[in-house]
Amino acid sequence: MTLVAVSKQQPDERIEAMLAAGQRVFGENRVQEAQQRWIGRRAGVELRLIGPLQTNKVREAVALFDVIETVDREKLARAVADDMVRTGRSPRIYVQVNTGEEPQKAGVAPGEADAFIALCRGMGLTPEGLMCIPPDGEEPDAHFALLARIAARNGLSKLSMGMSADYETAVRLGATSVRVGSALFGGRTPR
Ligand SMILES: *Cc1c(COP(=O)(O)O)cnc(C)c1O
Repeated sequence: MTLVAVSKQQPDERIEAMLAAGQRVFGENRVQEAQQRWIGRRAGVELRLIGPLQTNKVREAVALFDVIETVDREKLARAVADDMVRTGRSPRIYVQVNTGEEPQKAGVAPGEADAFIALCRGMGLTPEGLMCIPPDGEEPDAHFALLARIAARNGLSKLSMGMSADYETAVRLGATSVRVGSALFGGRTPR
């Protein structure tokens, strides 16, 4: 089980305290914010992109992150694959699934996940797992279970699921990493 400490919007002193406590895996949802926060403290840290990625930010994302958890469409997968060839860098890849099929939320629809994973593999990407963010105000159990089923039938071993409010449920349903922000750092300062 990997604890991904979600450091977005957190002040420097909390980041330093978390590093001093020995935490080494961090999640960020914006490329530019992550660059600013982690420049100068990047050594020995695993950084994961857990927010939506625009194709025009792919270069920076591939250069900065060890793991990109939000690959969810063909154009993006293609851009990441091309940049990995160009740079020789190979961040680990997760496919984000929109388990609640919410129109405003990123992620491939559950019914399209198998085909999308195959498409990624055909491009030379090797996704290692799936990521989801269940709808607000719904019991997350069914969403986590759905993500686990999609992963199992596609031979993917990693499940990034669970946040401050629901990580215990996620772990019970097979999460291999949980993304915890406010429960670990305290509340975020709104941007
Ligand atoms: C902000 C964020 C988290 C952490 O949320 P908390 O509720 O503070 O734990 C987890 N996953 C993603 C994708 C996020 O954007």
